[in-house]
Amino acid sequence: MPANVMDFIDLAAQRRRLGDRIDRAIARVLDHGRFVLGPEVETLEQRLEAFCGARHCITCANGTDALELALSALGIGRGDAVIVPAFSYVATVEVVVSAGATPIFADVDRTSFNIVPASVEAAIAVAKGMGLVPRCLMTVDLFGQPADYAALRAIATAEGITLIADAAQSFGARSPWGRVGALADITTTSFYPAKPLGCYGDGGAIFTDDARLAEVMRSLRNHGHAAQGGAFVRVGRNSRLDTIQAAILLEKLAVFDDEIAARNAAADRYAARLPASITPPVIEAGKQSVWAQYTVKVASGRDALVAAVRAAGVPIAIHYMTPLHLVPPYSGFPRATARLEGAEYLSGAVFSLPMHADLDAETQDRVVGALERATTATTVVPRRA
Ligand SMILES: *Cc1c(COP(=O)(O)O)cnc(C)c1O
Repeated sequence: MPANVMDFIDLAAQRRRLGDRIDRAIARVLDHGRFVLGPEVETLEQRLEAFCGARHCITCANGTDALELALSALGIGRGDAVIVPAFSYVATVEVVVSAGATPIFADVDRTSFNIVPASVEAAIAVAKGMGLVPRCLMTVDLFGQPADYAALRAIATAEGITLIADAAQSFGARSPWGRVGALADITTTSFYPAKPLGCYGDGGAIFTDDARLAEVMRSLRNHGHAAQGGAFVRVGRNSRLDTIQAAILLEKLAVFDDEIAARNAAADRYAARLPASITPPVIEAGKQSVWAQYTVKVASGRDALVAAVRAAGVPIAIHYMTPLHLVPPYSGFPRATARLEGAEYLSGAVFSLPMHADLDAETQDRVVGALERATTATTVVPRRA
């Protein structure tokens, strides 16, 4: 690739760094031929449990299925309400509607981007007022930073509802309460290639300390098979992780902590160099992000600024242009409050810079240089403190 072309996420550089290890891991699977539920799948589940401190890991076909399997194991459906943040990827709300339940949107914080506990309480009151049964709070650790699990767990416990953490963007992150995977009743993640821990296709996993839920989800992902013997004991589906993907993930997991450190070094480097009119992300005390996205904010002029930076050859993504409660298929569902101001503000203010473990200083300087030129060229009003 020519040196002047920049990737938003440079997976080719990661492949060069990992060398032949992944090729050899794939070749071993081709040799043993157990392409579905082969030995690498179980080894990966054990290593993921040890990595995050959860008792049970169930791998599955993707991060969306991980959420669906969790909702299905909990028996969530018609008449039930699931509280979701209004600022997330569409999968978060999609699975609730697919399950036949009603999503209730809660607002997010403008600084952490994560769900606001007071808005969760308002959403639960809305659900009850509509005659729905609040069954579940589904949090998202947006862009890689864990949500406020102390407050969210307290709400879930007080209401007797299940806490599901959609950790598709945060697997590997740390919090004052432990590592992501062990912070909620059920945690799900995605191994989509662009996620912090990605495979070479689709993949996902579910984590829980609850042995019964783990057994049900393990059965659901494989056509409802009983844990022992071949009997079908429930209506399941096919959501297995391919052995080849598990073999790739074993190699990537071995270097994941080093990659998280490299991502954090890159984040610190951006934060120290960004123009004053661009607000860097804030990581709360005691937390460590895995930087699924390095997402910044401007007070105004976001779209013109992004266009200018893109024109300079720097890839920029916008997560997310529209808050979920305003995305047409979901705009009719209830909200904690009429306006969800945090989510609405962020959708007009954020953009994400290239971020990956192989981001070098020279590339970051090019990104920062393009931002500096664009902020002076476009009239960006400086943010008030
Ligand atoms: C990526 C993502 C998902 C879905 O994961 P897939 O593996 O693509 O199905 C769900 N939730 C969030 C927050 C995500 O970022």
